[in-house]
Amino acid sequence: MTTTVGVIGLGNMGGGMAATLARHDFPVFGFDLSQAARDKAAAAGVIPVSSLAELLDRIDVVILSLPKAEHVEQLCLGKAAGQANGLDASSLMALARPGLIVIDTTTSTPETSRKVAAALATRGIDFIDAPVSGGPKGAASGSMSMVIGAEEEVLARAMPVLEAMSGSRVHVGSCGAGNVAKIANNMLAACHLISTAEAVSMAAKAGVSPEKLLEGLNAGSGRSGASQVMFPSWVINKAFDSGFTMGLMRKDVGLASDLTAELGLALPLSSTVAQLWDESRATLDDSEDFCAIVQRTDPTLFGHGE
Ligand code: NAD
Repeated sequence: MTTTVGVIGLGNMGGGMAATLARHDFPVFGFDLSQAARDKAAAAGVIPVSSLAELLDRIDVVILSLPKAEHVEQLCLGKAAGQANGLDASSLMALARPGLIVIDTTTSTPETSRKVAAALATRGIDFIDAPVSGGPKGAASGSMSMVIGAEEEVLARAMPVLEAMSGSRVHVGSCGAGNVAKIANNMLAACHLISTAEAVSMAAKAGVSPEKLLEGLNAGSGRSGASQVMFPSWVINKAFDSGFTMGLMRKDVGLASDLTAELGLALPLSSTVAQLWDESRATLDDSEDFCAIVQRTDPTLFGHGE
């Protein structure tokens, strides 16, 4: 039987995921609040719909790619999200048929994933958290990586869709664990961008060019996603066009700080990095590319090319 897929949130990531699934011959329906996002998805073979009810009526699996945890909670539970009981008739929980699998690729919080999963389970709807890495290019090419929080049985049923949309999948635990792993990943990415900028700036002042330094770092033990992907693709060429915004990365850094505090941990390096991202609001708008954080380390070396 053909699995029919829905994608909710057709932005930089969700638009690419929907197009990838359509290329793999899944019938794909797409919903976004933005007409422009729906039109773009339609040009890539996705069938656009203009309401959640229309989407949920037609699908077996739904992918969420929304900005934040609160959007996921609001969409899934609606007004009932803030109440002990009650069902909001406009929510996914009320509108979806039993047997639906929700794959949430949003970088969200472990508690939101667990809360939404528990509520949806009362209606026979399964929920897994599967946040992603790889950026819009990875989403559009189906090469993203996923860290997944799910029960084995649900994961097995979702696997054909997950395999079509990603290049690698690591099942890290039960529901919520995917977001723990993603928050840890982005805490490191936030740190590596700044630490690599400091290393590149230091070496440049000492007479070694950024290009040569990166070649050396990437052959050595100082390499990271920042030195291997971010600097060569979006920083050194001053393009700053990764498709991941400063606002979304600040959200992720905040999620790491919140999780650290909830756990009662003191992590001095992470807390300094979080402070640097927070202070960057003074010069860098939420709409800027997240890689622009390096301009705070060395505006002359990393300043915008325009
Ligand atoms: P985006 O802002 O480009 O897209 C989000 C889309 O969701 C928008 O088109 C918006 O209109 C839509 N939307 C918001 N609320 C909605 C609702 N209630 N119903 C329907 N549509 C709604 O964001 P993005 O860059 O695609 O990121 C999506 C998620 O993926 C975020 O959680 C982000 O942290 C994560 N992520 C992004 C990247 C990246 O490189 N951009 C990489 C990994 C993970």
